[in-house]
Amino acid sequence: TSTSDGNYVTCDVRNGVAVVKFSDPKEKVNSLSEGLTSEMKVHLDRLLTDSSIIAGVLISGKPSNFIVGADIGMLEKCKSAGEAETLARGGQEMLLRLRSSSKPIVAAIMGQCLGGGLEVAMNCHYRIAVKDKKTVLGLPEVMLGLLPGATGTQRLPALISLPEALTMMLTGKQVRADKAKKLGLVDLTVNPLGPGIKSPESLTLEYLEEVAVQIAEQLAKGKLTTNRTRPLPERIQALLFKNQWVRDNLVFAKAKQGVMKQTQGLYPAPLKILDVVKTGLERGEQAGLEAERRGFGELSQTPHSKSLIGLFRGQTLCKKNRFGKPAREPKTISVLGAGLMGAGIAAVSLDKGYDVVLKDMNANGLTRGDQQIQKIYGGYLKKKKITQSEKDVYLSRLNPTLNYADIANSDIVIEAVFEDIKVKHAVVKEVEKYVRPDCIFASNTSALPIAQIAEASQRPENVVGMHYFSPVDKMQLLEIITTDKTSKEAASQAVQVGLKQGKVVIVVKDGPGFYTTRILSFTMSEAFRLLQEGVEPTKLDKLSKAYGWPVGTATLLDEVGMDVGAHIGVYLEGIFKERIAGGTRELGDAIMASGFYGRKAGKGWYIYDNSAKKGSPRQMNPEALAILKRHSLTPKLENTDEQIQMRLIVRMVNEAILCLQEGVLHNPLEGDVGAVFGLGFPPFHGGPFRFVDHYGAGRLVSLMETFQNAYGPEFAPCQLLLDHAKDPTLRFH
Ligand code: NAD
Repeated sequence: TSTSDGNYVTCDVRNGVAVVKFSDPKEKVNSLSEGLTSEMKVHLDRLLTDSSIIAGVLISGKPSNFIVGADIGMLEKCKSAGEAETLARGGQEMLLRLRSSSKPIVAAIMGQCLGGGLEVAMNCHYRIAVKDKKTVLGLPEVMLGLLPGATGTQRLPALISLPEALTMMLTGKQVRADKAKKLGLVDLTVNPLGPGIKSPESLTLEYLEEVAVQIAEQLAKGKLTTNRTRPLPERIQALLFKNQWVRDNLVFAKAKQGVMKQTQGLYPAPLKILDVVKTGLERGEQAGLEAERRGFGELSQTPHSKSLIGLFRGQTLCKKNRFGKPAREPKTISVLGAGLMGAGIAAVSLDKGYDVVLKDMNANGLTRGDQQIQKIYGGYLKKKKITQSEKDVYLSRLNPTLNYADIANSDIVIEAVFEDIKVKHAVVKEVEKYVRPDCIFASNTSALPIAQIAEASQRPENVVGMHYFSPVDKMQLLEIITTDKTSKEAASQAVQVGLKQGKVVIVVKDGPGFYTTRILSFTMSEAFRLLQEGVEPTKLDKLSKAYGWPVGTATLLDEVGMDVGAHIGVYLEGIFKERIAGGTRELGDAIMASGFYGRKAGKGWYIYDNSAKKGSPRQMNPEALAILKRHSLTPKLENTDEQIQMRLIVRMVNEAILCLQEGVLHNPLEGDVGAVFGLGFPPFHGGPFRFVDHYGAGRLVSLMETFQNAYGPEFAPCQLLLDHAKDPTLRFH
């Protein structure tokens, strides 16, 4: 018997077991969309009440994923907390019905099983998962400012140990099948079918389903029970956690401490998760579920959640190549300069299948770069992200060299040599002597206009900017810069490479500092002035972190490198003149003369002592503080905490809006994605543009006018911001 009557859900019966398969016909991934859930309900209604033939039910997904979560669009349609609560209640009711079925229900998990998907699986009676890299289980709702709203907050702590459940929900951490088995989240794991078999993905899924059908049969016949006896230490632990005092004072107190440290208390979702889990444990599942759906409704309407969802959407969009597939797919990349950036760029290319030529001009530089790459891959191996043989394969694709002749076969050359236009020009000319005419030339310059670099090129249509962020293997963003002359093919190839390297890609128009470097420089200029006005580096750090920046502003200066910052600052000052005013040039010169460049020099605002004990308090650099004293400025306002935080933020926000006004940015979404993923703009504010939408353009303009009256034109709001202030119906999103 076979019934296949819907678009999203099909059902056929094997050995008395109904095999229910989810497969969204239009999307690569299954999500709990309106279409899928309504079909799922129809099937379940029939299957769970049909007593004649069906012995058990098996739920399965696509070969590439089980279900990746709820459809966010459904949530965005909810205009009130009440509506979102109703949505959650619907999900809860459907899944409770699944769990209360007298027929055994087995989940066969292959690929991502996240959010609502894991909630479905957790309400089945038995879970089987494939032991491969792409099969992961997790509840990432917290990353969207939400909580798992369809029984997840109650089911996870019922299945696995409380501290582990909290960690998964509070961080959104995903676990692979073998870890999930250890935790008690899945009951059985199966190995994937090996490579060399035709289409192993779909064969593995078939095999998984076959095993799952047998399990369902055995469960139905009572030959197998869901034996969830945990090992003795865990059973003792669970007993301890039954005691409320222990739970509150050990588990919850510790979890809350972790949340406060991570988020400064700025994000409501993790705190709400703690509340809701606690309610369930203290007052029973019914009360827990009620708190869950109410909490879900409330969180869904917070600006935090809207910002994070906006960013998620932006991130998804920036994972597509807007120029379309390139005519020629690059295979060999040459990276020039084996410094911090060059080695990083090479590293993120090797495991994506690229052959990489890494060229430096001196042997020491090359050795240093090679060591950096070895260290990155050593780390992957240690964390079990890759196997030893994978590591060997990836590193075998690296060809370090001192000779230009070795780049002859490149499809794309990415230069990361010194930030000096003369050096860049020399490199362009040299490269063009060796490579094919269709080879793309990309520059990783921090601030030099790409068109200016392209002046040395015979084929400016092949020249493009690829601006990576440090450390390249950790930072998600890549800013691609096109000039008026850059061809669509060159842009498309550059984007393609970035996407394959795993980056979130924004595309901006050429100009000094492009988008990210430019807007950061304005905030950094203001930071220098605040330091000169007597705001201590520690205070600046504390206030910026309290505002949601992941790294304190003074620390960021040390991390970027004061020399790099000063170099870019002087260059941009020559272009943006009084608009970029802030800290004085004399201070910059004094810092440069002192050699306090930041972390890499061992001294910046702070002292970096590698032998210092982990966790010991950071040491200020008294000599740098003395320099600040010698260049002190008188504050023009009272410098309240809020004024300090706002001066940092408005400089960046105003400049971002000006970038949109000037066409450097193509849309506000990329502006938000760039600022958050590249610069650490507080994520719950969603980026400079969403920040204005929430804060109010009018309110922001009047604040800027206060600053402008005290300081000068550097605080003048740009025209587009003024337009938004005049007409409150105008919004960036
Ligand atoms: P770095 O000083 O660590 O490395 C530069 C490397 O280039 C050195 O190993 C040097 O020997 C080599 N080199 C110089 N001239 C060369 C030539 N003609 N041919 C081959 N190799 C040459 O510098 P970095 O921090 O890696 O920065 C490199 C570029 O990336 C700069 O343009 C910089 O502005 C840009 N950038 C840096 C960062 C950052 O955070 N460090 C971020 C984005 C962009």
